[in-house]
Amino acid sequence: NRQAQRELVSSNNDKGSQGKFDFIPTEQDLRDAIDNKQLVLYYQPQINMETQSVHGAEALIRWLHPEFGIIPPDKFIALAEQTGLIEQLTEVVIQLAISQSVQWQKVDKTIRLSINISAQNINSLKLPEQLKMLVKQYELDPSLIVLELTESTLMDIEVTSLDILTRLRLKGFQLSIDDFGTGYSSLSQLHKIPFTELKIDQSFVANMKKENESKAIVQTCIMLAHKLNMEVVAEGVEDKDTWDLLLAEGCDIAQGYYIAKPMPADQFDKWQFKG
Ligand code: C2E
Ligand code: CA
Ligand code: CA
Ligand code: CA
Repeated sequence: NRQAQRELVSSNNDKGSQGKFDFIPTEQDLRDAIDNKQLVLYYQPQINMETQSVHGAEALIRWLHPEFGIIPPDKFIALAEQTGLIEQLTEVVIQLAISQSVQWQKVDKTIRLSINISAQNINSLKLPEQLKMLVKQYELDPSLIVLELTESTLMDIEVTSLDILTRLRLKGFQLSIDDFGTGYSSLSQLHKIPFTELKIDQSFVANMKKENESKAIVQTCIMLAHKLNMEVVAEGVEDKDTWDLLLAEGCDIAQGYYIAKPMPADQFDKWQFKG
């Protein structure tokens, strides 16, 4: 099985793209990856559309596999959630992300860092405890940390966990609702949880220049977010036409390949936006 996977990898290596081969990690593989520190974060810039300055970055996990190369999160986050390893995985992510944010804060006191959180992380007290400890240890400004929860994640959150989110918000952390428009909980959850940011799902953003329905959804998301005093992020911005449309609609922040792909921290430090 492993031999067959290796052959597939080498035959696809030249394409250099994600997801072309069939490395299907086991629970033990993922456990080893965590223990051997093979999980790293890439950072994708977010740009303030009005000022064209760097607003922040989203931390996106990658598995640097010694044999199979860079494994994208789609290949292992679901496994982590099914096996409960997501607790340990998120702990690693938070540790890496916060120490990176502390580095950035030494140079720039405004750069935000967004971190992806799963439902199980909210259904236990580990995450708030770890965050509290790190804020104290680093004297970190929590308002520069954005916790992203997808709309579908919200459906898996226990009712009693809702106040964990409220308490994190009261401590100063920002809360973002990710992939907005793709789940079913949207409107009822929006006022139960004190979100500060709304991320429009990239499927609507990608289609808005050629599809009136998608454009209407994007416009509605921007209006809704602003009425609820939330900042709005468009992700999956892939070209200038889409950027211009979003700017005209009053979108606050943009993220996508048009601006930059996710990159390691050392590259991010050298990166500049050439709008
Ligand atoms: P997401 O949170 O919706 O992240 C956005 C995804 O879209 C990222 O994929 C990003 O690389 C990709 N993307 C950004 N700009 C563009 C664009 O212009 N066009 C297109 N086609 N794609 C773009 P990635 O890094 O593969 O992550 C996939 C998903 O894995 C994330 O979706 C998130 O749900 C999950 N994920 C990533 N890192 C973590 C993590 O640390 N913890 C958890 N729990 N989940 C994570
Ligand atoms: Ca996200
Ligand atoms: Ca998203
Ligand atoms: Ca997504």
